[in-house]
Amino acid sequence: MSLKSKTAVVTGSTSGIGLAIARALAAEGANIVINGFGKPDDIERERAGIEHEFAVRARYSAADMTNPPSIAAMISDAEKEFGSVDILVNNAGIQFVSPVEDFPVEKWDQIIAINMSAAFHAIRAAVPGMKARGWGRIISTASAHSKVASPFKSAYVTAKHGIDGLTKTVALEVARHGITVNCISPGYVWTPLVESQIPDTMKARGLTREQVINDVLLEAQPTKEFVTPDEVAAFVVFLCSGAAKQITGANLSIDGGWTAE
Ligand code: NAD
Repeated sequence: MSLKSKTAVVTGSTSGIGLAIARALAAEGANIVINGFGKPDDIERERAGIEHEFAVRARYSAADMTNPPSIAAMISDAEKEFGSVDILVNNAGIQFVSPVEDFPVEKWDQIIAINMSAAFHAIRAAVPGMKARGWGRIISTASAHSKVASPFKSAYVTAKHGIDGLTKTVALEVARHGITVNCISPGYVWTPLVESQIPDTMKARGLTREQVINDVLLEAQPTKEFVTPDEVAAFVVFLCSGAAKQITGANLSIDGGWTAE
């Protein structure tokens, strides 16, 4: 499959799963807009590396996913620069772990904005161009937490369930326009997001680091293995293929069996 002549915007792609997705789409020939936070030198190395390794064009958007006008500008700038946004991957996300009664209100608002509302703003901006061209792929990184809950993650679980609803709704709206809309729901993937929630989970549950990894994280996953960013990225590439054109409105698990239990 080739995605040559397509352009993909991948939010939250300076790290973890998003970075793997951006590189996998570039490997198929798509021009790429990367986005997210990080040290400028690291981001430039990633951007230039994608261009060099995969012979595509890559741009960086510093759009903050809490800021709706910046999200709309990220899409319109990409359309101006590359002529289209054909693939939109809503992937930026953060986590915060706390009992609900102590959950900081600003953390709730931030998680709802980045993990859920940002997808709405990006989809809203990208759909008109996709409709006009009669082709599009919208994929949001949801989570096993879009299907089931865990304690102490009220904002995250709420936002990810929201992604599930947004995915189904938009899929129905654009079904006759050659656009598919899906979300993928990984279990635990070893990335900085998982690494960074370990101290708070240790505190919230009174556990050691090893206990959190083995008894909380991998406990949920029957395979007892973390999902890898490259496995998630390969799934996204498949959803962009012609063979996947009847897969729409789906919430697709890649979770080592977690949500089968
Ligand atoms: P990560 O921390 O490695 O990457 C998150 C990315 O989002 C980074 O590029 C970061 O800069 C960016 N980001 C954060 N806030 C932003 C903002 N305000 N504006 C723009 N970009 C912002 O995390 P990850 O594990 O790769 O997570 C990526 C996605 O996958 C998230 O939506 C997460 O919820 C989801 N997910 C992760 C796991 C897991 O186990 N790691 C499991 C299921 C779902």
